[in-house]
Amino acid sequence: MKTTETHAGACEPEYFMRDGKLTRRMFIKGVGAITVASALGFGVENAGASEALADEAPAAAGEKAVHAVCTVNCTSRCHLRGTVRDGKLVRVEPGDMPGRPGYANACLRSMSYIQRLQDENARVMYPMRRTGERGSGEFERITWDEAIDEIAEKLNTVLAKDPQAASFYSFTGDLGKLSWEAPTRYAATVGATTWDIEGIMGDHGASMGMTMVFGTHRGAHDSRDYLNSKLLIVWGRNVADTHTSELRDYVAARKNGAKVIVIDPRQCSTAAMADEWIPIKPQTDPALALGMMNWIIGNDLHAKDKLVEESVAPYLIREDDGAYLRMVDGAVVATATGASKADEGSIGTAPAAQGEAGADAGTFVIWDELTGAAVPAPDAAAIKGGSVKPALSGSFTVDGVACRTAFDHLVDACAPYTLERTGEICGIDPDVVERLSREYIEAQPAGIRMGQGMQRVYHSYAPFRTVATLAMVAGYIGVPGGGASHAGGTATNKPVAGYTGPVYGFADWSDTGKKANLVPSSKVYSAAVSHDPVPIDFLWIANSNFINMSPDSNRIINEVIPAIGFIVTVDPWWTWTAKYSDIVLPACTYWEHWDLIDRSPWAMFNQPAIEPMGESKSDVEIMSLLAKKTGVEQYWDKTDEEWIRQFVGTDHPAWDDFDWDRDVVEQGIYGRSDALYDSAIVYADGAGYKTDTGKFEFYTESLVAFDEEVPTWQPPCEDPREGELAAKYPLVYIQYHDRLNVHTQHILNPALEVVQDEPLLQMNPVDAEARGIAHGDVVRVLNDRGDMKIRVFVTEGIIPGTVATQSGWTPDYFIEGCYQNLTHHTICDAEEAYSMTNSAFYDVLVEVEKA
Ligand code: SF4
Repeated sequence: MKTTETHAGACEPEYFMRDGKLTRRMFIKGVGAITVASALGFGVENAGASEALADEAPAAAGEKAVHAVCTVNCTSRCHLRGTVRDGKLVRVEPGDMPGRPGYANACLRSMSYIQRLQDENARVMYPMRRTGERGSGEFERITWDEAIDEIAEKLNTVLAKDPQAASFYSFTGDLGKLSWEAPTRYAATVGATTWDIEGIMGDHGASMGMTMVFGTHRGAHDSRDYLNSKLLIVWGRNVADTHTSELRDYVAARKNGAKVIVIDPRQCSTAAMADEWIPIKPQTDPALALGMMNWIIGNDLHAKDKLVEESVAPYLIREDDGAYLRMVDGAVVATATGASKADEGSIGTAPAAQGEAGADAGTFVIWDELTGAAVPAPDAAAIKGGSVKPALSGSFTVDGVACRTAFDHLVDACAPYTLERTGEICGIDPDVVERLSREYIEAQPAGIRMGQGMQRVYHSYAPFRTVATLAMVAGYIGVPGGGASHAGGTATNKPVAGYTGPVYGFADWSDTGKKANLVPSSKVYSAAVSHDPVPIDFLWIANSNFINMSPDSNRIINEVIPAIGFIVTVDPWWTWTAKYSDIVLPACTYWEHWDLIDRSPWAMFNQPAIEPMGESKSDVEIMSLLAKKTGVEQYWDKTDEEWIRQFVGTDHPAWDDFDWDRDVVEQGIYGRSDALYDSAIVYADGAGYKTDTGKFEFYTESLVAFDEEVPTWQPPCEDPREGELAAKYPLVYIQYHDRLNVHTQHILNPALEVVQDEPLLQMNPVDAEARGIAHGDVVRVLNDRGDMKIRVFVTEGIIPGTVATQSGWTPDYFIEGCYQNLTHHTICDAEEAYSMTNSAFYDVLVEVEKA
């Protein structure tokens, strides 16, 4: 059987068009109908969606209301309310959010997703064995018994020789606890290898940058806090398409008087609702932040008190080795080897990073202007109380060791970024840089929302680290209406006095007997090809279209895949990656199995709303089958539902008001009894920094060896400004996330194809004219790694010198090739030293020619 191109004809666009217009009710061949409840889900500002839902008529006769949480890798994690008729999902709407009226949300992707997931031509329906060449798409149907027997035989052979040569790679296709973690949990039970995925997927730069300064990966002001802002800068973040539940708060903030500025190479959807779009050259965001800091400090407008009280600004730095000066019993001590802030790892499980001597190597030191002596760094309260007065700036000699303050290092790093130089690097008029700097510091307060868009570059930690430092220099960290926030991740639960037990009952799930060998995903190519740091003789891919979402697809297909002996892919869809696998197993979608999302302050549940399509199974079911054949069945003795019941079965006060039938079965969501539903401010009163110093830490010792101990701007890996490569490939190529895709998960969806049915290359008229290219022309985009053929969309909504496509389109839709043919996987030494390389998807040079 050939599986290629089998789904294209399932639902022709005319099923969804009437008189050239998108109809409100769209008919699905063989499924029934869905209703699009609102055009974009987010559109009604403070609309009281919960109330609307509460008022909604109960399910009609013959219909059943069901619930799910959208578990694709989108930061919204929406609670969905579905309607089932005749065993089919026919409608999806926003689900209620207890405790937070007006926050219900769903987008076109999740509303229309039910078409695709109930289309048997789109789904992997049965276990399949490859019969042709890898990539040919030729498979034969086999039984589950045959599939598991064959996989177990291969796997047992590898495990007997070297357990770590068996790899289990679970990406972000389904972030439900059971789905996401089952493959890696299984790996732990047999002592195999798993992968810390954040690096290869290109999200790790944000985590590194945040960890350097705040000590944690995430940390965001609740978007409702922007009602307190006078200015909101949305920096590299297209929230209108990618985090639709948040957008209503930006709109409300603007209506409340806040000016909204979007900084982005593209005039993205969010820019359309903003007061101002500032186009910026890709890869140059840290330079803009440094320029703004230079202007603010140069005009003596920086927040001196806050810097002294809450940051490492007054901490003394040794001139001899660049380390923090440390004291033990009042005497200066030599710098301990490995005295550095270790990265705490990425989402999910985390790798052990390098040295963690940190605070144990002695106390940090400041220069006290009151006593004229070096003293242990005091806390903010002591400084506020006036018992000590740390010097913000200056050179000192302590026990014969010459030192300067960390702030002076930062000032030096900012100094080269004059308005003119900043403007030249960033492609922004120097007057605009100055006005932006002035408006930012004068807003009092101004908030910044940072997005992943600016960190998919070489030296990927620099954007978040530098922009956050700008906010600290301006005095906006921990201030209502301020902050430098990254999506999600703020705990919104109150500690319960006297109770120390866990909220969730994860103990059995965490009990795996052995441990997995966790490897940074930046090493996955070298592991396959040169067995560094581990060989990959067996690869299990779950929740991932690995080839489509990883850099340099030609390298994966020509070097990585051929070096791997046996590949199993578990997926609901016939992905590009599935076609290169030896066995493909059908997985359930989130509407077909039990699962849990802990989205503080809620517990959100999936349960089988419809029968699994074909012979698809949940990841827990699949791993349990494999466990029986590989000697670890004792760890896989529960059904999905039994695991969920155990997770929520603790005596923690969070569950005081919990009722299984009401909260799981009927409502699909539970608002925890220990929840905090008001808008929380992170780092309020200077508290909460998880760094070694306990302060906002813009000085990073472990990067001294790379001359990046303070925030810097480093030229791109593929630099468009000069050199042979720039002469050959003068255009910067970037990708963006928009309303149609969360990675590849909503592709091949007929309803969305009505909106757009092919990828497009955005190009500025200046660049198009220089190449004789007109709007709608088919062009070839190329560099030394590969090419793609695609239609051009000429628009002034992208900065000259840059071209862009949406991320997530699969090769099915390109005229030829695919966008990942152009990207590269280049190891960054500084990032490897800190934790792991982040894929620099937006640090790519290309040329475009008429095809
Ligand atoms: S894709 Fe994102 S915005 Fe859309 S329903 Fe899912 S979680 Fe919500």
